[in-house]
Amino acid sequence: MLTGSLFRRLIPPLVLVIALLTVVVTFVGRSKMNDALTDRARRRAVALSAVERDGILRLMRAGAHSDLQYVLEQIGRSPDIDVVRLVRPDGLVSSSSHPHETGSLLPGHVVQADGDGDLMRITARAEAPPSLVVHVVQPFRNTPECQECHREQGPVIAWLDIDVDVNEHAIGFATFTSLSAALGGLYLLAAVGILVPGLRRAALSPLKRLTDAMGLVRDGDLAVSVAPAGTREIDTVVSGFNRMVGDLKQARAVEEEARRNQMERVEQLAVVGELAAGLAHEVRNPLSGVKAVLDVLTRECEDESRKRVLKDASGELVRIDQILKELLQFARPKPPAIQPFGFNDLVRDAVALSFTGGVGQPRARCDLDETLPTAMGDAGQIRQVLVNLLINAQHAAMRGGEVVVSSGQGDGYIWCRVQDDGPGVPIDRAETIFKPFFTSKSRGTGLGLSISRRIMEMHGGRLVLDNPGMQAASFTFMLPSAPPAAS
Ligand code: ADP
Repeated sequence: MLTGSLFRRLIPPLVLVIALLTVVVTFVGRSKMNDALTDRARRRAVALSAVERDGILRLMRAGAHSDLQYVLEQIGRSPDIDVVRLVRPDGLVSSSSHPHETGSLLPGHVVQADGDGDLMRITARAEAPPSLVVHVVQPFRNTPECQECHREQGPVIAWLDIDVDVNEHAIGFATFTSLSAALGGLYLLAAVGILVPGLRRAALSPLKRLTDAMGLVRDGDLAVSVAPAGTREIDTVVSGFNRMVGDLKQARAVEEEARRNQMERVEQLAVVGELAAGLAHEVRNPLSGVKAVLDVLTRECEDESRKRVLKDASGELVRIDQILKELLQFARPKPPAIQPFGFNDLVRDAVALSFTGGVGQPRARCDLDETLPTAMGDAGQIRQVLVNLLINAQHAAMRGGEVVVSSGQGDGYIWCRVQDDGPGVPIDRAETIFKPFFTSKSRGTGLGLSISRRIMEMHGGRLVLDNPGMQAASFTFMLPSAPPAAS
């Protein structure tokens, strides 16, 4: 594929350029050669015709007019002479090497009677093999020696009309054209012969090695390294590739190390989590006993200052119990027990539970969709999600502010939104707040949102922050209208 495409790009233009050059060289060479050969042919034909004319002239002066026809036929036998004839000024052929012409009219020659010099034209003979014919016309002038026989005639008694075959043209052209074509072919062979192995050695083989190495890297082998090819451009790519594989190897080693550390950490955390969960479970029972004792002592105590201390201690025990409960739930999440329940009733309950109307506490306003269908889910867990959102909203809301709780349905979900009028969640914390143990509060556990999100996911729903980076944080949780398929 690679080889084909590279050669397909190079060879056709190369062939085209060489063919074009060959044609141009042949054309220009032929034209130059034509000029030179034509000139030579003219000189040869004129010289030949002058010799013939002189011979004929001597015959005529000797009064051997009757031998003229015979002499012309003998001259016409020469391979160089196509035809030789004597033409009178009125165009009548008086003798010719082609006897059948004798006595016929050659109208084309009449015009020549007015001239007084040589006339020549060159024509190409069409019959095979094609050759050039130089047509030379020489005048027999009416000199004083001719007056005896031709007194009454004009300045030219007759014309010697001779066609000389000039085969050098045809031979020269044919030789030159075949030489030129052969030379073009040789150039082409040489170019391809040098180019193809050169390309293969300098570019294609290294590229193939590079492609093979890429395949190995793709399969995960990062020990590969491609040897330099000795070509600057290819070697730049090769060294870039080797560097890239080296970087990749390093990055993978770092990633592997991080993954190993992470695994170790996860394992340690799992052990610690299990331990913490076991501890939390064990501690909660005695803790509730201690709280019951504290409550009795508080009720029976008559000293107000001691009573306050006991109440504070009992309050701290409630907080510890809450932390342990969240820790337990985080470490050992319970699968939801799906039951039908009234969604809006649950919302009203949770709001009533969370908003006791204390001094400075924000107000809660409900904006509920009363057409909601019966919801399916673990009502206890959904309530826990909502209570967590409401408590967070109370913490974030302005003093004496407002928390709006709304519900609705759409896209196969029943949803509930809790929006406060607080500072909102910075954009760079939008996801962090859902991670376990992230908290910005001095007495927070950082488990509320992560537990809530997991509860919603176990229900096939979602919990999202609607407006990261904006004031008045708005959280929405969505519960599928139909219960999740049992897994
Ligand atoms: P906690 O309440 O114990 O801190 P959460 O998981 O419930 O744990 O909340 C994690 C953090 O998310 C909070 O400490 C707080 O920084 C941020 N957060 C939660 N709700 C809001 C809110 N309504 N407005 C602003 N920040 C909030």
